[in-house]
Amino acid sequence: MRSGGVDHPVATALPNWGCVLAVVAHPDDESFGLGAILDAFRTNGTRTAVLCLTHGEVSTLRSDTGVLAELREREFGAAAELLGVGWVALRDYPDGGLPQVSPGLLSGEAAAAVAAVEADGLLVFDPGGVTGHPDHAASTAAALRAAAELDLPVLGWTLPDDVAAQLNRELGATFAGHRPDDIDIALPVTRARQLAASAAHVSQAIPTSVLWRRLALLGGTEHLRWLRPPGLNGTGTVAGPPQAGPPHAGPPQAGPPQGGS
Ligand SMILES: [Zn+2]
Repeated sequence: MRSGGVDHPVATALPNWGCVLAVVAHPDDESFGLGAILDAFRTNGTRTAVLCLTHGEVSTLRSDTGVLAELREREFGAAAELLGVGWVALRDYPDGGLPQVSPGLLSGEAAAAVAAVEADGLLVFDPGGVTGHPDHAASTAAALRAAAELDLPVLGWTLPDDVAAQLNRELGATFAGHRPDDIDIALPVTRARQLAASAAHVSQAIPTSVLWRRLALLGGTEHLRWLRPPGLNGTGTVAGPPQAGPPHAGPPQAGPPQGGS
């Protein structure tokens, strides 16, 4: 449970996991959003893995969806390599349509990926989606359902609320952040690998991307919240995170991972 109040402790280090699995919606989320954090995990000696649920074929930046799916798959592979991600899987759920996909299907994907890489914890976008994209929220909900089934901790990437407000003011964006009291880890990061990986998403990393302004405002710090705190593992308790996802329907689908891409 969150301690609340002014004395809420803020850590500056990541957990010492053997492997972290990021669950994201779109190719580029792993770089634009989580790139510096994945790089920090890797620098700590944590193996990194990324499950991406769509090919990002409905990007608002381009209109040629068929070609774009293939292009973005290649960009995703190049970016993951630059980030030193050891395992990637790119699924073909509909870009822009994740909230309409069966929750059990998506959480089954996350659970299968956890099993494939033997992840000790998950890394996701904040439940609100950070940028406001419904696909981001659906991906995180899927990861949280899988984590509850598997009793694993989950870290959520977020923005300080003042950074979100400034981006929205300046650029008409729809970011949602959190107050300092809600942030559990303020992580010092370096951006070199994130910038290189982001640049590999040639179709998306255009000069007018909101990404650049966000990174400038964040400087050398990323912010994370425990969506499912560590320490629940093995205790059998259900005194879980404050935000309540929808109740999960039945056991996760434990299908085999369908190979990375
Ligand atoms: Zn995205």
